[in-house]
Amino acid sequence: MDIKQNLNSIKAQLAEDVTLVAVSKTKPVSDLMEAYNAGQRIFGENKIQEMADKYEEMPKDIEWHMIGHVQRNKVKYMAEFVALIHGVDSFKLLKEINKQAAKYDRTINCLIQIKIAEEDSKFGMSAQDAKKLLVSEEFKKLNNVSITGLMGMATFTDDTNQIQQEFKKLKTTFEDLKPLETANCDLQIISMGMSGDYKIAIDCGSNMIRVGSSIFGARDYDN
Ligand SMILES: *Cc1c(COP(=O)(O)O)cnc(C)c1O
Repeated sequence: MDIKQNLNSIKAQLAEDVTLVAVSKTKPVSDLMEAYNAGQRIFGENKIQEMADKYEEMPKDIEWHMIGHVQRNKVKYMAEFVALIHGVDSFKLLKEINKQAAKYDRTINCLIQIKIAEEDSKFGMSAQDAKKLLVSEEFKKLNNVSITGLMGMATFTDDTNQIQQEFKKLKTTFEDLKPLETANCDLQIISMGMSGDYKIAIDCGSNMIRVGSSIFGARDYDN
C-alpha cells in the first residue's frame, strides 16, 4: 500500500469544495504519519478511545473527526480536542456534548446523522425528527455546540441506483433544513460517501467524503 500515492490520486479527483476525511480506524500511527507527511490533516476515527490515543501521539495541527456511533458516557474523552462529531442522532447526546464542551470553554461542531439507508442497522434520525430538534427551544439553549451540517450512510449494496436515491434523500433533507439557521445551527456540510461510493456521493451533492480503505488498504477486521 502506497498511502501517499493513494491519497494523491483521490485528491486529484476532488473539486476544491470537497473535503477529504482520511478514515484511519484500526490503522497504526505509522500509517497515519505517512498520510500526515503527504499533507493530510483531517483524520476520522470511529472509536473515541482509539482517537484519543492517536491524538496524544500525533502532531497537534490535526483535525480529528469522530465518525462512528457515539456513546454518551465517552464524550468526555474527546471533548477537549475533537473538531467535528459526525454521528449525532439524539438530543440527549447533543446535550452531553454541550455539557462536556462547556468544561473546556469551547464550541464543538456536530453533524446530525440522518437515516437514509433502508437497512435497519444504520443509525440516524429521520428528517422529521432532525427538524423537530433544530427548531426546539431546548436546542437553542445549547451554546457550546454548533450544528454545521448533516451526515448519512447509504445501504451497503451493489445497486448504484439505490445508493443514488439514498444520497439524494440526504441532499434534499439538507436543502429542506438549511433555512432553519439559528445562533447554533448553520448547515454547510453534507458528509456522505466512502471508498466504494464517494464518486456517486459527490455527484449527489456531497462536500465531505470519509475514505478509509482506498487510502490505507483493507482493515484487518471489519468495524
Ligand atoms: C469505516 C467508515 C468509513 C470509511 O469506510 P471505507 O469503506 O474504508 O472507505 C466511512 N464512514 C464511516 C462512518 C465509517 O465507519
